[in-house]
Amino acid sequence: MPTRLECLDRTLLLAKTLFSSDVESAAISAALSASPVALYADSETLACSPGQTGIVTTAQLILAMGIPVHLVAPKAFLSIQPPLVGDEFGEALVTYGANLIPGASLTLTDTAEETDLVFDFRSSPSVRSQQPGWDVSGSQCAGAISQSQALSKPWGDSDHIGAGVAAVLCAAEAFKHGMRRVVKDTGVRPSVEELLMPAHSASFAFDSARVGSIDGRCIGDIDIVSGGAITMSMVHALLRSDAIGHIRVIEPDRADSSNLNRYPLLTRADIGQLKAALLSRYSAQHLEIVGQPSRLEPKSIRRLGPFAPTMVVGADDIRSRWLVQGVQPARLFVGATADFMTLTSEHPVGSPCARCLHPVDDGVRGVIATVSFVSYLAGLALAWRVLSTVGQGPCSEDRQALVAWPLRMDLETSHAWQCVTRDSACEYCGAHVARRFRPPRPQPNRRSVRRVSMK
Ligand SMILES: [Zn+2]
Repeated sequence: MPTRLECLDRTLLLAKTLFSSDVESAAISAALSASPVALYADSETLACSPGQTGIVTTAQLILAMGIPVHLVAPKAFLSIQPPLVGDEFGEALVTYGANLIPGASLTLTDTAEETDLVFDFRSSPSVRSQQPGWDVSGSQCAGAISQSQALSKPWGDSDHIGAGVAAVLCAAEAFKHGMRRVVKDTGVRPSVEELLMPAHSASFAFDSARVGSIDGRCIGDIDIVSGGAITMSMVHALLRSDAIGHIRVIEPDRADSSNLNRYPLLTRADIGQLKAALLSRYSAQHLEIVGQPSRLEPKSIRRLGPFAPTMVVGADDIRSRWLVQGVQPARLFVGATADFMTLTSEHPVGSPCARCLHPVDDGVRGVIATVSFVSYLAGLALAWRVLSTVGQGPCSEDRQALVAWPLRMDLETSHAWQCVTRDSACEYCGAHVARRFRPPRPQPNRRSVRRVSMK
């Protein structure tokens, strides 16, 4: 069995960047282990599928950081919540928690007294215990948390994207709390004090008008390059949306213990399996998932084609983004993370392309520091983009890219929607290529002209 430090390796690496001097991995791991959080749920929240998604995803993202979770909830039937299996909601989460990060289990309890923080998903106004806590709500494509006020909780009217946003907000607070404990336990100073401050309230919304009702929507054929954290997070969200389609995942690697900190469809029992095979195991009646255990590279591109009109790149490697852009899919979606930042974008054919947005290969090939809620937000944003593009067509130019820092979503500067600027020299969409996509001049309708002339 992998050790706790092996499983948390990438998260500990990222956590260390928050402090002004060296901190031992074991000290950070111990602080996370000693910072349990409680999730409160009631029958009303658990009766609707997005309510369950909010609690399950929150528990997953927090457990993946090595933080124990206590669940205070009545018994309820489990809705479709991959990778959870079983009939009863709480028991399924206990089983999941026992197979993720050693030393961070999920416990069913009647009281949250032994925990440091509380996240309250209950629908009705409720009395909380003494710990600091947040009221949690989800609505269409939006999530919110608040320390001071009881939020309106239309979990029944929410969707799974909104529930995912709420989970990201909660997990960021649990992480910062663990980091503040590191400061308390070791005496080390944060490199930037403000980064670790708790949010009094925080919210984030994708554009719900662009999605409308996402359930039962046909998303067609999609090829995804990489079966890593961003892809798994995107598929985690799509599997809950009832989107109808066919996904092929192109990924040659096998899962290892250092993936457990951010792959929401992976458990310890899956270590050593091909990621492509693992994802195909979640193929559902509405969303077929086929694994292609191959590496997409110049020498394999002919063999792996023809490609679907919609392509997604979740790979860290910038050259993979260029390679896929070179295939010229009708629409390309790219998800990327760096430290605590996410950058997601969409590139319908003819618009400024992925190479314009990622023009430089930094050549970095080392171990990448990551944490669960950052990767999840990137995957969630891609799921939203895929669902909304099918619903409403390409996004407006000023929303082609989204930069977000989920560590402090309470700040106005925590996210920015952006245009992608075309590089006139870009080999895929520069001036010489863009001419091909110039919209044709309006032509008189020949049929109507002919009809007129016949009179
Ligand atoms: Zn370009």
